[in-house]
Amino acid sequence: MTMSRVMPPAPVRDLPKAVSAGDRTAGAPRFASLPPLSLYIHIPWCVRKCPYCDFNSHELRTGLPEREYVDALIADLEQLLPRIWGRPVYTVFFGGGTPSLFSPQAVDAVLQAVRARVRLDASAEITLEANPGTADAGNFEGYRAAGVNRLSIGVQSFDDSNLKALGRIHDGAQARRAIEAAQRTFSNVNLDLMYALPSQTLTNALADIETAIAFGPAHISAYHLTIEPNTLFHRFPPCVPDDDAAAEMQEAIEARMAQAGYEHYETSAFARPGLRCAHNLNYWRFGDYVGIGAGAHGKISFPDRIVREMKCKHPRQYMSQAAQGAVQEAHEVPARDLPFEFMMNALRLTDGFRLPLYEERTGLPLTSVLKALDAAERDGLIERDHREVRPSALGRRFLNDLLQRFLPTTDAPPQD
Ligand code: SF4
Repeated sequence: MTMSRVMPPAPVRDLPKAVSAGDRTAGAPRFASLPPLSLYIHIPWCVRKCPYCDFNSHELRTGLPEREYVDALIADLEQLLPRIWGRPVYTVFFGGGTPSLFSPQAVDAVLQAVRARVRLDASAEITLEANPGTADAGNFEGYRAAGVNRLSIGVQSFDDSNLKALGRIHDGAQARRAIEAAQRTFSNVNLDLMYALPSQTLTNALADIETAIAFGPAHISAYHLTIEPNTLFHRFPPCVPDDDAAAEMQEAIEARMAQAGYEHYETSAFARPGLRCAHNLNYWRFGDYVGIGAGAHGKISFPDRIVREMKCKHPRQYMSQAAQGAVQEAHEVPARDLPFEFMMNALRLTDGFRLPLYEERTGLPLTSVLKALDAAERDGLIERDHREVRPSALGRRFLNDLLQRFLPTTDAPPQD
């Protein structure tokens, strides 16, 4: 739905084929138990493609093939059931694209199919992303009745000139109306905002934050606009604030959010106490997820390996192949990549991770990262005790430098 919201992490490398036997036998993961499981459902259409967006979103040129796509999602889910037999699903997330293009009846049909086929936890967090340009108060009530219990609104900014520069289909007044309607229906609402926008000033960025806080939502995500390859902004770059100005905005936003009582629990995520996003937390804690829908990613742990997969990206191709699983890419994650993949997620969290989580989620011994952790601690990038590892303020600021320490440097397996 937005540039900013959290997508299931894509494979770190493009490894379309299975790794060699040599990679498997040396230092292969071993799991005593499997991680919590989430379900991601991708809706791949938008009214218009935003110039900064590199998501798998397609401009809707003809009618929405809603019924056909719902059938494909259900067929896709059925294909993957053998890989997750018996495992409870703790969170569901409808992302896109623009899921709010879909009717409540379609969302209800998908959720009914999910409940009939997997063990959906009774208190599962079920999120749906909505675009203020397609928001409809009646639809919000319908989503709620279907079982959605968290709404995430892609506001990005309340300022009409910012929204125009971002190519959004809505204006500030529509964003405000969508939030009011959402809050009449849902107690758990997230607002996605962006900063470091074309020609944006610090005052302007803070005005957006102030407006968002005034609504008192459960959760606010504030993302730095990044210019991604394969976007219109990459071909025709707008004039955006420089790194220093963007860092000043980030610091001011973090200070204001803290003052307003929001916990800054992940690089870009702020929540009122007790209202962190369970679905995204599962990604950041290196949990498992299955993805259904065009281009959806999955990460599934088995007792001796972790497999990543991606569904066919193009909606037409996806719908025609869903009954066969529509898998475009699948690969086993080499053990040597697991330390980096784990840290790339867990060190985004302000609280970091409990030490046993590393072994629980990678299936590797903690000794495989001890040297890197020692070096990161010596350089002031992490703080740790006998229970936890946390990124320091310096580590959070220079997260990429911190993460690089966990990249595989040779073909050798992790030390154990
Ligand atoms: S609304 Fe814009 S940013 Fe969000 S998925 Fe669609 S094209 Fe991308």
